[in-house]
Amino acid sequence: MSKEFEQKAEAFHQELSREYYLAEAGLKEQLSITPIYERYAHLFGEDVVRELLSLANDRRGRYMAEWVTLEYLENLVKGVTEDISNAMRQATVEWEGEHVPYHNLRPMISNEPDMTRRHLLDQLEREVTASQNPHREQRFRSLHDEARGLGFDNYLALCDLLRGLNLVSLTEQARILLDETRDVFFRRLERFLNSIEVPTERAGTPDVLYLFRGRTFDALFPKEAMIPALTTTLAGMGIDLAQQENLELDLEPRPLKSARAFCVPIRIPEEVKLVIKPIGGPDDYASLLHEAGHAEHFVNVDPDLAFPFKRLGDNSVTEAYAFLFHYLPLNHHWLRRIVGIEDGGAYIKLARFQRLWLLRRYSSKLLYELELHTNLDEAEQRYVHLLGDALGVAIGAENYLADVDDAFYCAQYLRAWMLEVHLRRFLENRFGAEWFTSERAGDYLTSLWRQGQKLRPEELTISMGYDGLHSKYLVEELAST
Ligand SMILES: [Zn+2]
Repeated sequence: MSKEFEQKAEAFHQELSREYYLAEAGLKEQLSITPIYERYAHLFGEDVVRELLSLANDRRGRYMAEWVTLEYLENLVKGVTEDISNAMRQATVEWEGEHVPYHNLRPMISNEPDMTRRHLLDQLEREVTASQNPHREQRFRSLHDEARGLGFDNYLALCDLLRGLNLVSLTEQARILLDETRDVFFRRLERFLNSIEVPTERAGTPDVLYLFRGRTFDALFPKEAMIPALTTTLAGMGIDLAQQENLELDLEPRPLKSARAFCVPIRIPEEVKLVIKPIGGPDDYASLLHEAGHAEHFVNVDPDLAFPFKRLGDNSVTEAYAFLFHYLPLNHHWLRRIVGIEDGGAYIKLARFQRLWLLRRYSSKLLYELELHTNLDEAEQRYVHLLGDALGVAIGAENYLADVDDAFYCAQYLRAWMLEVHLRRFLENRFGAEWFTSERAGDYLTSLWRQGQKLRPEELTISMGYDGLHSKYLVEELAST
């Protein structure tokens, strides 16, 4: 494959990333990606995809083939994608005599102490979500047809093969995780639901959102101390945030700015944005740290690497770096040294339970998505059954299509959670429980970040002295939650 093609692919990627950044950071009113796809349509022709698939016999070629094929599929359904996203952006519901935007409902549910009101808000949210389900179904059917059109057995096989997800083995590990953590999960669930006065038999996902919002811990995680916590953490590892000119920290409040922190690597490693609207609270700290993990990864990538190694490859790798920082607040040494919390025990218990919840949710989502992408007709019942069985609370059937990311991103998250435990154990063994205060740990991480996503999680774990990527350590940690 030609170098020129890679350069064009990189230019497309930069334009698309910049557009997402401008829209999500509130610097632009509408997200408009169709003109970008149109300008670069020559990258995503069916002949190009077929040629790349047939030539993909080395790592660089495989990463390009994966990316072009998935962009080719997205390009075919982008009209529907945009319609759904714009409909959701514009939708409002009636709540106490006011028009409330659909996107505000989730934060309102998380902050609503009254169970009945939470459930009503959730009902309103689900009704709007359901209104777009016919379009979502049409979109998935098109993706399934196009995957077969390219010569794959089905969409599942396409994703598994091109992304190197190892779905058979991952599914087995997801089942083990669900079995081994079942007892501890249900014991903790009942106790935590009691703590917010929700009877287990009436509990639904909105109650869990409220529980994990962790309002009682807000005072421990003030807004003003958030950026200093990040700066101090990085300084401990010998990283001076103020000196990183390629990383822009966008803290400016704008009305249209997304409420969640996010990181966009526009040009790697020359131009990376970390966007946040600080509000404080434990969740906000975790999401800032998560995005900072991505940002440090991207600003440290070797500028001489080829585009497929800088940006493509397995996203489980960058997600693992993000999780490594994201879960720092579960380390009581970090809470004490960086945030000044002497007794973080109660907070850590909740945060660990939240992690267990997420792992069970994603494990059951993987089982569900395997079925969804092979039998769409039964999907709605299977969603409610599989997630309900794993999570022990009522699951809103209306979310069965909206709660799905394309191309098994759920599998990449699961692989990232597995990789994060390997990496964290390695850092703790070599640099101690307070590894985040070690410049040598910082040097080691920087040496990993330099490689972009050239290496796969399996190879990274081997480089750390493990015998590969597996869920053993993760399950052990979760079972002792
Ligand atoms: Zn992430």
